Amino acid sequence: MAKKIKTIAVLTSGGDAPGMNAAIRAVVRTALSNDMEVIGVRRGYNGLINDDTFNMNIRSVSEIIHRGGTILHTARCDEFREMPGILRAKSTCEENGIDAVVVIGGDGSYRGALDLSSVGVPCIGIPGTIDNDIACTDYTIGYDTAMNTAVEMVDKLRDTAQAHDRCSVVEVMGRHAGFLALNTGLAVGALTTLIPEIPFDVERDVVEKMRFTQRTGKKHFIIIVAEGCDDVNEISKEIERISGVETRTTILGHVQRGGSPTLRDRVMASRMGYHAVHILTEGIVNRVVASKNQEIIDIDIKEALSMTKTIDKTLIDVSNAISL
Ligand code: ADP
Repeated sequence: MAKKIKTIAVLTSGGDAPGMNAAIRAVVRTALSNDMEVIGVRRGYNGLINDDTFNMNIRSVSEIIHRGGTILHTARCDEFREMPGILRAKSTCEENGIDAVVVIGGDGSYRGALDLSSVGVPCIGIPGTIDNDIACTDYTIGYDTAMNTAVEMVDKLRDTAQAHDRCSVVEVMGRHAGFLALNTGLAVGALTTLIPEIPFDVERDVVEKMRFTQRTGKKHFIIIVAEGCDDVNEISKEIERISGVETRTTILGHVQRGGSPTLRDRVMASRMGYHAVHILTEGIVNRVVASKNQEIIDIDIKEALSMTKTIDKTLIDVSNAISL
């Protein structure tokens, strides 16, 4: 039978996402309620390598459910990509009596967790990224808040685009994936949304649509561009050159990472954090927590990393049908 897990560590890794704090809170409190000890690790895998750790209690996670960022801080850690770094992290776990590590982060962080588990440190992953680009799960913590922030920002840009009869080209985040952009585009009523998953031609896919809608009196335009596409400034220039419409570019950037998490992110973070510890109480390890059809489930880390995620084509159909 697997060794009983008595002490767990929790860390946040990779890009931060609103709701990470709510997930930390859920992990810490569920573990303490199950008579486990909890060790907080600062700055992702850096904290494991350098033993930057501290004991957490019920009050360590007070007043954080509504806060963006992460009280544990997060980082990218190149040293952890090589075996010496991974072995130093393992030593920290042994020295602190850590039986399992809960990693809140994106799929890069899962790869790190897989490496750590391969040297004998059991791990559980919780999906925390605004990009929603983790294949094994329908939902990642931070996605809803980031989309709502993007929508709020684009609504403001729409006012000024309308006032000046301009074309507003807005880059939203999402790394190599277009999920965030596609949903934002639909929610703000963008004329079109360019995403890396679908090849596009500026004249055919943007300017032709502008011309078509100009015939029915449209004078201002919102174009959403996912960050994984080509340089947004170049796309903007091309739109202005071909269409003759004055164009402005806005890169929303890190504003999408911040802010108080939405209800959805707090609820998902709480459910996922609870699930992560719940399976640990049953001795189940080396899994990632996921949401499938409204249910919280868990999947083997390696299997999760081998999966691929595709864009929901119906969103494109809906957008094309009503963005006129
Ligand atoms: P995210 O988790 O948001 O996808 P990254 O891809 O930057 O972010 O990964 C976060 C961290 O996870 C990296 O800085 C590194 O420490 C670790 N990591 C990523 N890929 C690997 C890998 N193949 N092996 C070991 N560690 C990795």
